[in-house]
Amino acid sequence: MTRDARYDVLFEPVRIGPVTAPNRFYQVPHASGMTNALPRVRAAFRETKAEGGWGVICTGACSIDPTSDDTPLPFATLWDRNDIRAHALMTEAVHRHGSLAGVELWHGGAAVMNRASRLPPLSPSGIPWMATHVGFMGNLRPRVMDKTDIRDVLRWQAEGAGKARSAGFDIVYVYAGMGYLGYEFLLPEYNHRCDEYGGPIENRIRFVRELLEVTREAVGTDCGVALRVSLEELRGRPGTHQESEAHELISLLSDHADLFDVKMDSSPTDCSASRFTGEGSHEPVIDFVKRMTDKPVVGVGRFTSPDTMVSQIRRGVLDLIGGARPSIADPFLPNKIREGRIEEIRECIGCNICISSWHDGVPVRCTQNPTAGEEWRRGWHPERIAPARKREKVLIVGGGPSGLECALTAARQGHEVTLADAGTSWGGRLSFEKTLPGLAAWNRVVDYRLGRLADLPNVSMYLESPLGVDDILELAPDHLILATGAAWTRMLYSTLEIPVGQLEHPAVYTPDDIAAGRLPAGPVLVFDFDNYYYGGVLAEHLAAKGMEVSYVTPAGQASAWTIMTNELPLVHRALLQRRIPVTTLQTVTGFDGEMATLAHVFTGEETAMHCRSILIVGLRRPRSALREALDLRRAEVEAAGIASVTTIGDALAPGAIAHAVHSGHKAARELGQRDGHRLYLRDTPITDCEPGFEQADAAE
Ligand code: ADP
Ligand code: SF4
Repeated sequence: MTRDARYDVLFEPVRIGPVTAPNRFYQVPHASGMTNALPRVRAAFRETKAEGGWGVICTGACSIDPTSDDTPLPFATLWDRNDIRAHALMTEAVHRHGSLAGVELWHGGAAVMNRASRLPPLSPSGIPWMATHVGFMGNLRPRVMDKTDIRDVLRWQAEGAGKARSAGFDIVYVYAGMGYLGYEFLLPEYNHRCDEYGGPIENRIRFVRELLEVTREAVGTDCGVALRVSLEELRGRPGTHQESEAHELISLLSDHADLFDVKMDSSPTDCSASRFTGEGSHEPVIDFVKRMTDKPVVGVGRFTSPDTMVSQIRRGVLDLIGGARPSIADPFLPNKIREGRIEEIRECIGCNICISSWHDGVPVRCTQNPTAGEEWRRGWHPERIAPARKREKVLIVGGGPSGLECALTAARQGHEVTLADAGTSWGGRLSFEKTLPGLAAWNRVVDYRLGRLADLPNVSMYLESPLGVDDILELAPDHLILATGAAWTRMLYSTLEIPVGQLEHPAVYTPDDIAAGRLPAGPVLVFDFDNYYYGGVLAEHLAAKGMEVSYVTPAGQASAWTIMTNELPLVHRALLQRRIPVTTLQTVTGFDGEMATLAHVFTGEETAMHCRSILIVGLRRPRSALREALDLRRAEVEAAGIASVTTIGDALAPGAIAHAVHSGHKAARELGQRDGHRLYLRDTPITDCEPGFEQADAAE
């Protein structure tokens, strides 16, 4: 396949100070959950993107000193010689593919709690960051930096830059974004200083400028120096000599950085979910930067369309197409564009499960790309898979996310795959969920897999085909995969969180009823203790249909788990905009068709709420009837030559789509293996130097 000439511009090299990016695809620094404790996992994760054509590959936040300690959230360190070796694994891996390696040197300032190092957090003026934000709340307030502290941080940055050069990095960052130390100096609300570091913008940028100067001094002409800066707040503040303080910052620092990596100020707007924001959402904030500097500019916006990327470059918004999530979902995105294989791009769906991994403190998980984080420990590659030793007949029952992924992965190995689903369209739960407010992009999970399956000659697919045991025995596959999904229940829990049975009433509904088109009569009470997106989004869906809806949850917030995916503030805003009242800390204990009885989860005090129907978004149970029927006829199953029966996805353990896709992929990779439950390789930290060696020895 040949590439469309209009995409050629994406493959032009770009100079970044003394180094040159081979193309415009730039994997910006992003959290991976892979700390220095998992150096091989991390190197393989980043290497796969270099192999896939990303011209620059960066680390996530990399602490320069124990005063920048985000524990228990995962972060990288560049403190000593062991750290240099750990990072060198990654830079060597990235260089093998001709890409540049960048490191995001980072000091968290007042935004970290130093829970492990127990050192007082540093800040320009002792003002805590996110003091009102429960998710990041700590109970230690920062101390005010004096001039010695400022000199110390500059020295740590210089030493970190020297170590970065020794580790083989080509681009070294100064970080002044997302509430971290450099950023705190930029905003007068955090910087109350009366010395030369506070006051007018010229003074407030001084610390960042000095960080850039010491970095350049440390790396000489070996590395490019990048500034990563958040511009949302500053763009909203009128400047003295320029349109805004953001304009002033870029023009004042233009000669000090080789590259500007520009972004938003907080996670919900910076890595916003597709449910609330589209591709290229940063543009209104960062569109001016290229006019203020002749240095290259990189920015993100969940770019997956090459036309949008070209447009960003042609219109003078960006020089380099930054990608974090698109590079996780498809490490081979650049090569697919280069080779004219656009339809093979595995587009990020913007669900932010990857970000929840960071909040969970574990290596990155991705809904679209089940191999993310599994490159080294399980040996999974996103594009390559070894052919099966023996071509076998695989029957998969259920064409939801898990069944589709299993079918695709089995077929790519060369197996003869049959996929059957009872429904009238592929996608399982997504067939309905994609129609809900903001969730259309999630159907990329289905579209990508259907597109790839259509190219494979060894797959037969049948809709409207509910399979029972007799059908399966007749088809007599070598391997049977059950991907039959899960069903929502009317189960309730007590205030002590003990299950108390189903709520029985004809006007009690589950999400499966809504999906089947059975609409409740209003006013509807949506009772959500699933706590992820579904309760909130169904409340929005019913309100959009003109129903009077109220939302009740035993949690402290609506869709409480969406704090993990950066969506929670936007969920609340959406419910408010649709005039859906939110009642928290209440559980439903009864319903008579006119009144629901609620009990406070802490006091048990009962109140009544008027409603004519209740939608319970609570517990899902696997659809296990087929599995149980097969178990009863085990002898016939064996006689039919069916060597293995494997349950995957929600039918095994109901969960997020990411879990279902991973489960389907894993089952296909492990087809025919007796020990289906394989242990993955366990990574270990690099310890060339024994604990206790002089940190200063590591400084270059
Ligand atoms: P997952 O997320 O694990 O993929 P889904 O609930 O999205 O699960 O998809 C399960 C699919 O299985 C649904 O599309 C459903 O129609 C299908 N299904 C369930 N039981 C059968 C069956 N006996 N025969 C064929 N298809 C089935
Ligand atoms: Fe995109 Fe979701 Fe994968 Fe993150 S987890 S990269 S948002 S598809």
